[in-house]
Amino acid sequence: MKSFREAAIREGLSRIPPVPDSPISARKLAQRVGLNPPVTFTDLIAMIEFEEQTFHGNLVTPTGTALGGSVDLTLRSNGKFDIQFHIHDSGIPDYDFQVRAIFTTSGGLVFVSQYNGHVEGTESTSLTHAPNRDSNHQESGINPLIRANWLEIKKGQLWITKEYSATGLSGFVQDVAKAVLDVAAISVGGALGVVIGLGTEASQLLRGLGLDGPFGVIAGVVVFVAGGSIVMAIVAGAAVGSVTNAMIRQRELSPQESAFAARIFGGSLPPANQIVLTNLSGLGGRAFTIPGADEKIYVNLGNAFYEPLQYHSDSYPTHGQVLIHELVHVWQIKHNTFLPGTVCASIVNQANNIVGQSVYVYGPPGPAWGNFNLEAQAAIVDQWFAGTKTVVVPNRTPMDGNDPYFGYIRDNIRNGQT
Ligand SMILES: [Zn+2]
Repeated sequence: MKSFREAAIREGLSRIPPVPDSPISARKLAQRVGLNPPVTFTDLIAMIEFEEQTFHGNLVTPTGTALGGSVDLTLRSNGKFDIQFHIHDSGIPDYDFQVRAIFTTSGGLVFVSQYNGHVEGTESTSLTHAPNRDSNHQESGINPLIRANWLEIKKGQLWITKEYSATGLSGFVQDVAKAVLDVAAISVGGALGVVIGLGTEASQLLRGLGLDGPFGVIAGVVVFVAGGSIVMAIVAGAAVGSVTNAMIRQRELSPQESAFAARIFGGSLPPANQIVLTNLSGLGGRAFTIPGADEKIYVNLGNAFYEPLQYHSDSYPTHGQVLIHELVHVWQIKHNTFLPGTVCASIVNQANNIVGQSVYVYGPPGPAWGNFNLEAQAAIVDQWFAGTKTVVVPNRTPMDGNDPYFGYIRDNIRNGQT
């Protein structure tokens, strides 16, 4: 365990050597490591005590092309990242290049970083100028989705794609959605859904996809843009690459559904006309909820869209349970605790249950509501609603006011307390 002082030294907040007993501001430390208030002690400790993993990829070009290089991506469990591009020209011609680092996980998360540049070969030599054969680029940043998905990210894989030309940049593939889909098809069998831009170029690329609404269809895939990330979706049952606008259904939450939701949430959800249900799901078939650029919240229910109050499945065996689960994410969006780019883990959940690592194993009641992760909060509510038997509550009645988890419904959910 590192001490606050060690962390403060590393973040440049304390003198080296440290002055004994000089005060260290936890607030400044939190600011320095990229946390916005309110900051819990747990958050701060997680930022200070982190794991890191570096992934290396080489830029390979065919024989006869004197362009090479490498990419190093370091990801940390506190959400910070560093990426370094190194491109080298060892031949005669100059090159313009565009290198993309695409990092994928088995659960379908994708991080993309991009670097465009120029390197010189022998032809750029003059009497006063030696060729600039190297182009190096380094970027650092923080993305909370790295922290939220750390266990999966540790086992991820780095892919390098490149375009290059000795005659200029025109004709480079600018369609990031297509490039990412290509890699996704190789790496995770199309189960991908979330693409996160790391660094300035990639974030701009994702923002600039040119959608004319909160989502759009690109290359037969539905794309939502949220901040510097995108979530890809399909119509339930459709193949990746085959979705058309005509297949997409969307509507506001109905008065009947709204009344049903109020039995759990009281008046703490946004108005029904701000909640849009769709028949979309993540590429792996999972439901997800995402804030739209139009101030509405999109609840993507897949097949449950048609009759959410009647729908049930292996993951959500009680009628209406998946709607309740997703409405917890709506609640989190309204109360500013949600991370856009979160896709519900029900399928992962089933696989993980076998090894006892379910993200839905939220433990006994007691911790403050804000200490449960986003998926755990949603599961606490949907399982209280459904009366799901757990290790903690082996005998359970749906929506029981004496249930050990009911305090969270009464004090947090219905009161809008995060
Ligand atoms: Zn969820």
